[in-house]
Amino acid sequence: MSAATERIRALCRSFHLPTVGEEAEPRFVAASQSAALATLAEVFELEAEDRRQRRITRLRYASKLPPGKTAATFDATRLPPRLAHQLGELAGGGFLEHSTNVLAFGLPGTGKTHAACALGHQLIEAGRAVYFTPAYRLVQELLAAKRDLALPRALRKLDQFEVLILDDLGYVQQDTAEADVLFTLLAERYERRSLVITSNLVFSQWEQIFRNPMATAAAIDRIVHHSVILEFDVASYRTEVAKQRTQRGAEGSAATRPMSRPQEPVGTKNQDDRSIVQEPEKKTGPERKRQK
Ligand code: ADP
Ligand code: MG
Repeated sequence: MSAATERIRALCRSFHLPTVGEEAEPRFVAASQSAALATLAEVFELEAEDRRQRRITRLRYASKLPPGKTAATFDATRLPPRLAHQLGELAGGGFLEHSTNVLAFGLPGTGKTHAACALGHQLIEAGRAVYFTPAYRLVQELLAAKRDLALPRALRKLDQFEVLILDDLGYVQQDTAEADVLFTLLAERYERRSLVITSNLVFSQWEQIFRNPMATAAAIDRIVHHSVILEFDVASYRTEVAKQRTQRGAEGSAATRPMSRPQEPVGTKNQDDRSIVQEPEKKTGPERKRQK
């Protein structure tokens, strides 16, 4: 079998077009057109790339990741080398195979959210289904689902995402009911699906999140069992940028210029407030319509 034929067969399998895959070669040969098989393979390659791009667009849309918080807008050089190395390794996505969790700890403004989002974008580029949400919002949505007796369904929808990024866990004080649904979510994903969690609270403060020592210990135990811990032991980015500006201002003649907000990448706001539960994508079946 020629390389072109093999390629055509493989691509047609991935397109779910088994008959085209089987019949192309014999029919082209019978019609004395075997030289055209290479061109056909080329056209199928274009289709494959186009589908890949459409899939990434769909994944990106479903992820609700802030569009501007990417690796391109993130300055990894200000991180300790170990942390920069860890982030580089995670970008490959291998940790998803073992349902490993990623925990980013550090003071406010140290870049945890931005780094987690950048990681999310990189995983999407690699074709993985990611969902980003502020932790408090997801908890509220799960709580509402529970009230409507729809918690299992909400959890199933979340299950379609290979990675769930829970941003700022523990930022808002929770009551017992909230702690309860959060624990259900963690238990549900344990050893099956990855979580990326950012938090300003270190483990010793997690009782504030889970409300009682037993639940806290159980939650930490599950999360940490297979995990990578990222310590954002750096100065606040905002403070640093502001400091640099003040210094520059003092050095230059425009020392009296008012200090402006540190520059943020354009379009970093999450563009909408749709609730969870949007399918990341269908695994099989015909490609859905291109997203606008
Ligand atoms: P945290 O989640 O730790 O509180 P953020 O990720 O929200 O911090 O960062 C605060 C602000 O500083 C954001 O606007 C973010 O884009 C920016 N920022 C933080 N670290 C970096 C970095 N290393 N490179 C570029 N921007 C950064
Ligand atoms: Mg944050």
